Amino acid sequence: MKVPLLDLKAQYRTIRDEILKVTEQVYESQYFILGPHVETLENEIAEYCATQYALGVSSGTDALLISLMAASVGPGDQVITSPYTFFATAGSIVRVGARPVFVDIDSETYNISPQEVENALFGMNEAERARVKALMPVHLYGQCAEMEPILQIAAKYNLCVIEDAAQAIGSEYDGKRAGSMGDFGCFSFFPSKNLGAFGDGGIVTTNSREHYEQLKTLRVHGSRPKYYHRFIGGNFRLDALQAAIVSVKLKYLDGWSRGRQENANNYRILFAEAGLDEIQLPVEKQNRHIYNQFIIRVPEKRDELRQFLQQEGIGTEVYYPVPLHLQECFAYLDYKKGDCPVSEQAATHTLAIPIYPELTDDQQAYVVQKIKEFHV
Ligand SMILES: *Cc1c(COP(=O)(O)O)cnc(C)c1O
Repeated sequence: MKVPLLDLKAQYRTIRDEILKVTEQVYESQYFILGPHVETLENEIAEYCATQYALGVSSGTDALLISLMAASVGPGDQVITSPYTFFATAGSIVRVGARPVFVDIDSETYNISPQEVENALFGMNEAERARVKALMPVHLYGQCAEMEPILQIAAKYNLCVIEDAAQAIGSEYDGKRAGSMGDFGCFSFFPSKNLGAFGDGGIVTTNSREHYEQLKTLRVHGSRPKYYHRFIGGNFRLDALQAAIVSVKLKYLDGWSRGRQENANNYRILFAEAGLDEIQLPVEKQNRHIYNQFIIRVPEKRDELRQFLQQEGIGTEVYYPVPLHLQECFAYLDYKKGDCPVSEQAATHTLAIPIYPELTDDQQAYVVQKIKEFHV
């Protein structure tokens, strides 16, 4: 049996006619950059995320970058974030000239530990603390970071909060939607996210009119009115084609997220039946986990298990094998092995197994059966 990590063709088959119809509309209009389809999507996403505003941008990475620019984070500034995330989180901080400060994660959710954030700030001298401008929590794998203490710390130290919600559209913390709690919410429409485009794309949410206006100006090279530049922005625009496709898919998002949640529950039953107690399943601390990934923790022989599953036709992935504080390009930051031990251990233990909504019961049973076979 073949069980890919993600099967986008299965999803496409269910929405093909609608997609072809809207894309044809875009072709007929020959209007490709921003425009009415992008505005419609922005309104829909703002409503979905329960925010005042949303601004379509070119990718999740650019959502982070433009938010940092709008927050006036720049050279000499520092941003506290997680080392256990996709590279773009920290990459965007460096690209605006600031310095990422990595603090360790919670061992159960893999999200940034508020206690470690507090410790990091407490351990700084006054001058250093004054350079910290923002917190960038990541809602990893589809579960929100512990936002209440994070927002409290931000208020205490007067810090901007930029949520990296690329993996978490529709997830909730205490009834609040991802992207609606901080100053900026950054989302990605990369095809493997729960709401994926047919190419690159992203969106930023905010409740601040001022931030929204700033983002909108920065999206078009800081130009307002056209050809008059008070700021240096970039080309951070979203294509009409991608917006039209994402709008179609948004209608199905809650159904797909439910499918992922049902698959997660099914895995819990199957793992329990198989008696695979040594494998830790995702710990749900927030009440709406949307399972962009289903991460199992394999304390021993993770890589051998991965290889075995591969041979048996099962797709898996390691998110992420090298925590960011140990990446070669960040050597100048002077972190060393042991600085973020929980992240370092997670990097050697975690394994993503298939969770996409179209996954069948038989496929799930096969995945668990093969994991069991490896362990006996
Ligand atoms: C995917 C992702 C991004 C970047 O999104 P792109 O659209 O690929 O640029 C940023 N942060 C996290 C946590 C992601 O998973």
